[in-house]
Amino acid sequence: MSSSVIGFPRIGRDRELKFASEKFFKKEISEQELNEAAKSIRELNILTQKNAGIDYISSNDFSFYDNLLDTAFLFNVIPARYKALGLSDLETFFAAARGYQGEKGNVKALAMKKWFNTNYHYIVPEFEDDTKIELTGNKPVNEYLEAKALGVDTKVQIAGPFTFLKLTKFVGSKKAEDVEEALTAEYIKLFGKLAEAGATKIQLDEPYLVRDLTEADKALFKKIYEKLLANKNGLKVLLQTYFGDIRDIYTEVTALDFDAIGLDFVEGIKTLSLVKTNGFPADKILFAGVVNGKNIWKNSYEKTLNLLDEIKSSVADPSKVVISTSCSLLHVPYTLASETKLPAEYKKHFAFAEEKLTELNELSNITPELLDANKKLFEGRVDSVDEKVRARVAAIKDEDYVRQPSFAVREQIQKKELGLPEFPTTTIGSFPQTADVRKNRSDFRKGLITKEQYVEFNKNKIKECIKLQEEIGLDVLVHGEFERNDMVEYFGEHLKGYVFTEKAWVLSYGTRCVKPPIIWGDVSRTEAITVEWSKFAASCTNKPVKGMLTGPVTILNWSFPREDISIKESVQQIALAIRDEVLDLESNGINIIQIDEAALREKLPLRKSDWYSEYLDFAIPSFRLVHSGVKPETQIHTHMCYSEFTDIIPAIDDMDADVITFEASRSDLQILDSLKENHFKTEVGPGVYDIHSPRVPSVDELVGQLTKIREKTEDYKLWVNPDCGLKTRGEEETVKSLKNLVEAAKLIRANA
Ligand code: GLN
Ligand code: ZN
Repeated sequence: MSSSVIGFPRIGRDRELKFASEKFFKKEISEQELNEAAKSIRELNILTQKNAGIDYISSNDFSFYDNLLDTAFLFNVIPARYKALGLSDLETFFAAARGYQGEKGNVKALAMKKWFNTNYHYIVPEFEDDTKIELTGNKPVNEYLEAKALGVDTKVQIAGPFTFLKLTKFVGSKKAEDVEEALTAEYIKLFGKLAEAGATKIQLDEPYLVRDLTEADKALFKKIYEKLLANKNGLKVLLQTYFGDIRDIYTEVTALDFDAIGLDFVEGIKTLSLVKTNGFPADKILFAGVVNGKNIWKNSYEKTLNLLDEIKSSVADPSKVVISTSCSLLHVPYTLASETKLPAEYKKHFAFAEEKLTELNELSNITPELLDANKKLFEGRVDSVDEKVRARVAAIKDEDYVRQPSFAVREQIQKKELGLPEFPTTTIGSFPQTADVRKNRSDFRKGLITKEQYVEFNKNKIKECIKLQEEIGLDVLVHGEFERNDMVEYFGEHLKGYVFTEKAWVLSYGTRCVKPPIIWGDVSRTEAITVEWSKFAASCTNKPVKGMLTGPVTILNWSFPREDISIKESVQQIALAIRDEVLDLESNGINIIQIDEAALREKLPLRKSDWYSEYLDFAIPSFRLVHSGVKPETQIHTHMCYSEFTDIIPAIDDMDADVITFEASRSDLQILDSLKENHFKTEVGPGVYDIHSPRVPSVDELVGQLTKIREKTEDYKLWVNPDCGLKTRGEEETVKSLKNLVEAAKLIRANA
């Protein structure tokens, strides 16, 4: 069987692209040196795949920032404001990706959005009415030739026109349908250019096909591809889909003149049944995505071989099945070889990008020995089962998911108990992480200072932070989170069941990576995590101090999950661990507790029909499990980073928190209308200023924003707070902004 890889991590084995780009931005290296660094990364990627025996390797999967933005630039879909800067091509590209501020002008970057259901973010191309679609770039051809020089006849990967149009923002009056014809014509030109350069295969990525499609979407897709496929210029065309199944368009797609179709059998819950029910034509190759491109676990060869057998028995020509990754390997770390500290008995269960190449190779040349060795891996893992945790999860009762008494009753009790003013002011938790704060943590990690010194430093910081908040006049204080860098990493490190890597970096956007912790086994809390910090903070003031925790859904969504138990069970385990922390905080006198669910919206399934059954039905109750044990007088807050939850408002209300704060300062506040329409009961704190920018909002501006918010939420008890945590901000601007915020709240109170 032949093997195929959809795409390989472009960041480089040791994040070379990140470091080279950073040097380039600081003008420490030239454009040429940056290009050379990029070339080495591409060459290593091609050779690594070639040496691993992969038959179908992609070129053009590289990008300096984002592949969709590459496609936009390839076809001259470049907003005029970037062109007007008069920069070099590469610098114009970076201006669109990151914004530009310099002698040639001052422009903001294009918007960034989450790439389907991954933690990767793509740049949203913008189409203006006078944008002239034209094949002006040569990147795919160049990168094809570069790989060819290494002896590899690659398939040229490129975003498909349908997905490109669906993800592009049309800022004028034109729509996708109006520009389809011009775009298709330029894709045909690209085919011609590639063929002329000697290319034989092209891979068009159309992940948008796994979403819910309308009739208009389907018509658009067909219209584009009927033309494209009638003009292949001798190229073999692979339609590549991933992140789900293509249930809405399977029969139409298989009827078109593609030479090969790539389907995802890992995340596509209906893919196998689609192939079985409808068959798969004899004239096409099926690229079967059976090696998970997103997880970090070893593939179960037994399961995969069985699946491949089933696939082969359902297609017209079983000799035309190619084994493939389920999506680009962009979403996994580069290589396990960089992990020097992870003990072998752990390591042998993982497969990062490089190791997945080995898996593809072994699966396509399977021997009884290989199969046997692989089977042994699935007989069990050290330290992964904790019977006590299992028993606890099994003993969860329906009533554990319900907080008593009801919200309305609690609200009255809390009002009396807390005695807060109207429009109470607060922050989201973190305060500026100044250099000394970071140094304290890293010195402690490196063993340069003792635990006592570390704690002492943080306590001083907390004391100062509390004093500062009192001076500013905030109503509900926080301890400032000086002990945390990344919140999920912090909780992961303090929970049993997690393991950590040294270099398992995964691209988040541009060249920025994250290093998610790995959920290895059953998760539990062995001792209190945040209690001492919160208790100490509370001892410094007479005002209420909010305890600060991260919720189970967010902890899970920002970790590499397990696969031997369900996501639901994993979330429940984490929920019970955080529940213990909530109850400990409460018994230590902390009567306001915030449980952040910053990433709750992130893993919402791509298809609406799956939202509840595949996610919200267990995610929301898990959140309730965390706080259902507290007394009525304890006030539970939650926080979400984006206000993009208009479509799931009832689910958010169902979290049954007492207060929710969320980002709203950059949005049109339409969310507030929707809250009202949905009779949202939870008290709300729509962020009144944007913490992503160093700007200090004036009192007038804040009063204006609050007035607008009030108009839309007249019957609500409203909180006054910034958008999100302040850890990335400077101290000076933070103090000024918060003073203005408190002042604005006072003015609103006076006029209420
Ligand atoms: N409490 C966290 C903070 O203030 C929340 C961070 C977040 O929402 N991402 O930093
Ligand atoms: Zn946030």
